[in-house]
Amino acid sequence: MVKEFSKYMKFQNSIGSNGWYYSLDTSIEDSPIELKGNLSYDYVIVGAGFVGLSAAYRLAQLSPKSHIAIIDATKIGLSSSGRCSGFVIDTPHKGDLLHDDSNLHKQAFEINRKGIFWMQEMVNDNDIKCNWKQSGKYQVAASHKAASYLENYKKMLDGAKENYRVLDQAELESVMGTKKYISGVFTPGCVLIQPAAYLKGLARSLPENVSVFENAKVISVASNAKGVAVSTKSATINCKKLILSVNVYVREFNYSKNTIVPIITYASMSNVLTEEQQAKYTGTYGWGLTSADKGGTTLRMTKDKRLVIRNHYTHTPSYQVNDRFITKLKQQHYNGLVDRYPDLNDLKIEFTWGGVCAVSRNFGFFAGKLEENIYSCYGHNGVGAARGSLAGKSIADEIITGESEDLNLLRNAELPCWNPPEPFLSIGISTRLAYERYKSRAEL
Ligand SMILES: Cc1cc2nc3c(=O)[nH]c(=O)nc-3n(C[C@H](O)[C@H](O)[C@H](O)COP(=O)(O)OP(=O)(O)OC[C@H]3O[C@@H](n4cnc5c(N)ncnc54)[C@H](O)[C@@H]3O)c2cc1C
Repeated sequence: MVKEFSKYMKFQNSIGSNGWYYSLDTSIEDSPIELKGNLSYDYVIVGAGFVGLSAAYRLAQLSPKSHIAIIDATKIGLSSSGRCSGFVIDTPHKGDLLHDDSNLHKQAFEINRKGIFWMQEMVNDNDIKCNWKQSGKYQVAASHKAASYLENYKKMLDGAKENYRVLDQAELESVMGTKKYISGVFTPGCVLIQPAAYLKGLARSLPENVSVFENAKVISVASNAKGVAVSTKSATINCKKLILSVNVYVREFNYSKNTIVPIITYASMSNVLTEEQQAKYTGTYGWGLTSADKGGTTLRMTKDKRLVIRNHYTHTPSYQVNDRFITKLKQQHYNGLVDRYPDLNDLKIEFTWGGVCAVSRNFGFFAGKLEENIYSCYGHNGVGAARGSLAGKSIADEIITGESEDLNLLRNAELPCWNPPEPFLSIGISTRLAYERYKSRAEL
């Protein structure tokens, strides 16, 4: 089997400027190791996001004598994982909330909590400086329609016997400094992180038997009974086993092409509030909120006093977004912030970016063996920090020990289902996204 990867692919690091990455002081470091020649490793991991780095760490932990390589087409921290809003969520979220089976909700809690526990272990053991903090999460509504979705959310939490606190407009304003939200539910288990700092810190914490290669796009994969050969423009690496932790780009390797689609969502980060702006801001620092309406806005006020806003989705099979669109989103995000904070109309948007997620119609997910010697994890991952980290760990567990209880837990999810053919697929998605945008306009 030989699979050739599209040579024309664009990566996420070309979509705007990722504020988490470029606001870090250390972002100018360059990869010291060049990938070239004919090499041999026991295990190769392609893709260094939440999934890939977690898998590399676990493989090295379980098999300290193995030689492991992790390769990414971009700099570590520029993947979707490094572009995400930094919520490591314990509760069922988005797609998980579209059914009312309390067993599935309990399972989502279990998966997310195991993922959080594992991430926390890596953070603590290596003293990774990524502002890891269990700050909890506010699920909020700006409109009466979204407030009605909160009723289902509370029912879900009651069914799972989880703790939560209901907040009215005044209580929310005392935390967030805005009157925008009329009701909310606080759950305590969500962890907030600086995602690019987490990834860079984790990459630096990998043991010596792991070699990290950045800016090296894999362009072909060939497998036979003995193992797998992975090629970039300047190198070929032979290995016993390969993990493809490449997010939606698994499509480019001809896996899951007709079951998942790339959807890009967009975020902006403000300046650090000036002293004058801090004097006008009446809320607290270090909180994060998600919208009760799945088409709504995610918002954070970081501990270091930046506002980070995320909304809007586009179906972008080319993975490419032009600068004009990013400028439009920057304005939309500025308007969203000033709508919430009219006194902060002199805020500057310092960074605006997009990041790609995989979407499946039935929110399906796969983690495990794709074929002999090749493993992967793909599927619906609009919320993927905790679950993706657990998936990476459990794939490594299965490779080294031959079994993984956690992988069995993840396998309880439905597999991503088939999509209709083009052009019906693209027409259907664009119509749906436009409709959702209209329906959720009060939450933008
Ligand atoms: C703006 C935004 C906000 C989000 N907010 C949250 C949130 O708050 N909480 C949450 O849980 N989730 C959030 N998500 C979703 C989350 O980012 C994803 O679920 C998660 O990043 C997926 O991790 P991953 O490791 O599978 O993929 P990625 O992080 O995308 O990593 C895949 C890597 O594979 C590399 N790659 C692909 N092809 C090749 C190749 N051929 N050769 C070499 N390397 C290759 C890519 O460069 C990339 O680095 C958000 C997503 C976005 C875009």
